[in-house]
Amino acid sequence: MAELESYLRTDRLPFIWCPGCGNGIAVRAVLGAVDRLGLPKDRVAVVSGIGCSSRASGYLDFCTLHTTHGRAIAFATGMKLARPSLTVIVLTGDGDALAIGGNHFIHAARRNVDITVVLFNNCIYGMTGGQVSPTTPLGARSATSRLGNLEPPFDAARLAAAAGASFVARVPVTKPFQLSRYIEMGIRKRGFALIEALTPCPTAFGRQNKLATPIENMRWIEEISIEASRASQLGEGALGGRVVTGVLVDAERPEYVASYEAAAEASRAEGLRVGLPAREVVRAAECLERGEVV
Ligand code: SF4
Ligand code: MG
Repeated sequence: MAELESYLRTDRLPFIWCPGCGNGIAVRAVLGAVDRLGLPKDRVAVVSGIGCSSRASGYLDFCTLHTTHGRAIAFATGMKLARPSLTVIVLTGDGDALAIGGNHFIHAARRNVDITVVLFNNCIYGMTGGQVSPTTPLGARSATSRLGNLEPPFDAARLAAAAGASFVARVPVTKPFQLSRYIEMGIRKRGFALIEALTPCPTAFGRQNKLATPIENMRWIEEISIEASRASQLGEGALGGRVVTGVLVDAERPEYVASYEAAAEASRAEGLRVGLPAREVVRAAECLERGEVV
């Protein structure tokens, strides 16, 4: 990590994450991607919501925006519209992005807004005490499903793909270099990119599901996932509930901000007045450009 230390607000360390949590691996993968792409720190905006993974924005020395629960993608959309030249990365969890933020998630994918969403999927609400989340597997125990979860989980990657995302990939944090490469590909892609990182939460998920050590939790993640090339050999019926990993979508589609700018330019050419983004969004974007924490 030493070579990436310049991307950290070291005065905020140590971080709050539990020993064995996968969040640090996923954050390391994000920093590696940004570093390889050579993006200046003041041209990168990291937006997060609420939850364990969303605390990451506080430790990162980019333009950062720590927002309200579930709204990270909505803030990021406004940020990208106000300042299209920024590279906008959303760090979010399964509860944040898929429960309270579920509508923002599917509609940003549908619009194909040029933001990169890194979804830390640990199958549970970690920070708030281990409640069932939209990705908790059937039968898994949580603080709010003591007898086993009765609700079928969302497949976040398939959801984004069905909604229209340009780039979708999924990988366990046990493959950190692959994860970092997918994040890099997602940032490069002009359009909505989802990278789902399957990550252990030994504290809130593991302890309730006989996976209390980090290594047990990581092994379980590997057992429930299968690479796309192997999955296609086996066929859908033989997957036994395992989630497919790898690059699942890599497509070219019209990107929303570019379409908006083209429409605005055409309207101006006709002498029509085109509304500016909300004043708050513009003000926040100006703070970010000055490198201030918003
Ligand atoms: Fe990580 Fe879970 Fe601890 Fe949160 S509760 S820091 S997700 S291990
Ligand atoms: Mg979670």
